[in-house]
Amino acid sequence: MTPSGAGEDWFERGFPHLWMPYAQMKTSAPPLAVRETRGSRIVLEDGRELVDGIASWWTAAHGYNHPHIAQAVRRQVEVMPHVMFGGLVHQPAAELAGRLAALLPGDLERVFFSESGSVSVEIAMKIAVQYWRNRGYRGRTRFLAFKGGYHGDTFATMSVCDPEIGMHAQFTGALLEQPIAELPADEERAQAFEAVLARHGSSLAAILVEPLVQGAGGMRFHGPAVLQRLRLLADRYDVLLIFDEIFTGFGRTGTLFACEQAGVVPDIITLSKALTGGTLPLAATVARRGIFEAFWSDDPSHALMHGPTYMGNALACAAANASLDLFAGEPRLAQVARISEGLHALDACREIPGVRDVRVLGALGVVELDHIDDLGALKARFIDAGVWVRPFRNVVYLAPSFTIDPDDLAFLTGTVVRVVAQHEGRQRAVGGVAPRTRDERLFG
Ligand SMILES: *Cc1c(COP(=O)(O)O)cnc(C)c1O
Repeated sequence: MTPSGAGEDWFERGFPHLWMPYAQMKTSAPPLAVRETRGSRIVLEDGRELVDGIASWWTAAHGYNHPHIAQAVRRQVEVMPHVMFGGLVHQPAAELAGRLAALLPGDLERVFFSESGSVSVEIAMKIAVQYWRNRGYRGRTRFLAFKGGYHGDTFATMSVCDPEIGMHAQFTGALLEQPIAELPADEERAQAFEAVLARHGSSLAAILVEPLVQGAGGMRFHGPAVLQRLRLLADRYDVLLIFDEIFTGFGRTGTLFACEQAGVVPDIITLSKALTGGTLPLAATVARRGIFEAFWSDDPSHALMHGPTYMGNALACAAANASLDLFAGEPRLAQVARISEGLHALDACREIPGVRDVRVLGALGVVELDHIDDLGALKARFIDAGVWVRPFRNVVYLAPSFTIDPDDLAFLTGTVVRVVAQHEGRQRAVGGVAPRTRDERLFG
């Protein structure tokens, strides 16, 4: 028997050997056993079907099992699933690099592939440090990042996450120390930010930010003016600017890339999550021409010394090319605009005591509460109601696939309003605030 009640025994045999993400495995509810996915639905082993409100950590932009991507992957697996990228190159990767360069603004045109978002940020950081070294500077090795930011789970990326949200406390002493600032969202904070730049400028390789939405740090929004200010100040203090669009890239905020809304071109951009439409792991670190030129030299030590084993995996690149076909051939951004309107049904949450804010940008809707006392119970209520959402910290959010059926979207928003109202009612009746455990505060 699986915990969900189905007759399959793979769960009993295998689950005791699995180590799950962001989970205190002793106390958290066991995961749901999934049989299959289709469209915006997750089908469980016990036959229940959940409407997916978060597109598998924001990856499945075209819904699950899109036939165009499936066919591209099937065709590629017959021809060449993978070949090493050292000294060899192939059409799916070359074509994808060219297409990304054409879609990205400005002269963001040199693409380095890897397999995960965190690694693509590590590579961006490595490029930034070596950029300065290759140009003869010394000591520009640190990164200025932001409160509320999230850039990954590996060591270098943990060091640029919000120290409170991230895992700094558990890894004190093991992480690089980076200056963490407030986003320059108004005049006062802009001045404070400039003071930090003035103090640390000559030791900084780059400023690192998630444009428009800080995702895993709490789904916080900021305006395009913040990005324009960052570009201006990065130029003034001669520091590189890296945009982490792993979450915001590929339509989530209403434009293909969030940076378009600010008219700002970063020096380096990182992409992953929806790059393959949620099918295969792939990430890209894309640099502007001037960044690449600092590595273009007769000196071998000026080369970028990085090369993941599965770099440019042909299956993943084929999936990404097929995903870009869908962005080009189907009205994805119009669908995002339609979803945006539908998500405004969440505004009804404003009436619920304990709800601090409701905000919508593109295909992302966020209900922020004062606090959530029992995340586990709230998650269970959503599953019982037939939806798959993962509230974290003090937010409940929807980030569905762009192809979601309007009725399913209405079901998601209606369920969020109803369940949050019930939960807040209960929370009030009980009165207390239970201590939150560390794992519950993460975004899993
Ligand atoms: C998810 C995410 C990452 C990390 O990507 P992984 O593929 O999980 O390593 C980094 N930055 C942002 C903004 C993300 O949303």
